[in-house]
Amino acid sequence: MTARNDSEVILFKSLDFIPIPILLSESRMDEVSGCIQRIHRFVNHAFIEQIGYTLVDIPDMDAWFNTVYPDPLVRQDMFEGWAAIVESSISAGIDTAEMQARILCCNGEYRWFLITAQIATDNQSELHIVTMRDIHDLQMLIDENKTLSNTDALTGLANRRKAEAVLENVLSATNGPELCLLMCDVDYFKAINDTFGHLCGDDVLVQVARLLEGLQQSAACIARWGGEEFLIVLQGHSLDEVHQIGELLRMDLASTDFNYHDEHLNLTMSFGCIRIQDNESLRSALYRVDSALYNAKSAGRNCVVMG
Ligand code: GH3
Ligand code: MG
Ligand code: MG
Repeated sequence: MTARNDSEVILFKSLDFIPIPILLSESRMDEVSGCIQRIHRFVNHAFIEQIGYTLVDIPDMDAWFNTVYPDPLVRQDMFEGWAAIVESSISAGIDTAEMQARILCCNGEYRWFLITAQIATDNQSELHIVTMRDIHDLQMLIDENKTLSNTDALTGLANRRKAEAVLENVLSATNGPELCLLMCDVDYFKAINDTFGHLCGDDVLVQVARLLEGLQQSAACIARWGGEEFLIVLQGHSLDEVHQIGELLRMDLASTDFNYHDEHLNLTMSFGCIRIQDNESLRSALYRVDSALYNAKSAGRNCVVMG
């Protein structure tokens, strides 16, 4: 971290007072390979305090990538991601590049930082400022919020919002896979609540959710659609296969002994299933599967009806 002249001394001293981790780098031509290398010249106090490394640990950009992304696949991704961001900044005429990165700090902890780098333009030999703002707590909150907003609080399954997002996503893909929907609803669930209490009803819904999760491998999404109604999105199956899957589930559910404290109870579910047609809207598909479920109820319940 040696300054080469008085102005660098003043700059380095000043940067030590800024409470944001800062790294200064410069470009240098590697005489052997002929490639431009990014050499690190300075890290401020906040950098050492918050990230932990000194210039000895990360003398250049290669050392930085090797140190903070120890997993080679992650490192490759980050390297390519960063190169693409720099490239698009340059072509947009912006002189900074920015990305969020989860880096390994010197104390062994992974933390999220927002890395903003002044990028090389005309004069390669200048010092370039890289700031690293700690956004870890914010990122954790965002992740938690995302999970909460996509999850049903009672069963832990995906909620309706998530299921709709999955469906919109698959349907918007050109040449997407064949999609079928299986919608099911507990028969006479109100009677379970009325007889054994609402908490028992809740517990039964959780047990139903665990049973449906047996389909985890072949389903693109298993969601609690609302109340005692669930939606299963199946990819790459014909409608006949989905009907059979529904039948197996129906029989499985009907023969399951549901427990709540000392109570043993049985239940059945009704199923509707459809294949989403080419160019069909989500709204239309949901309407059709709901109608199929309605027909299963009308047909006496505990059955699977194709729509
Ligand atoms: P059907 O066979 O026609 O489906 O009859 P059902 O009794 O299952 O249907 P209905 O729509 O009459 O009643 C559904 C009940 O589900 C009413 C509602 O109070 C209850 N319910 C909805 N969400 C929950 C929940 O999260 N927990 C519990 N315990 N009950 C719920
Ligand atoms: Mg019901
Ligand atoms: Mg219902």
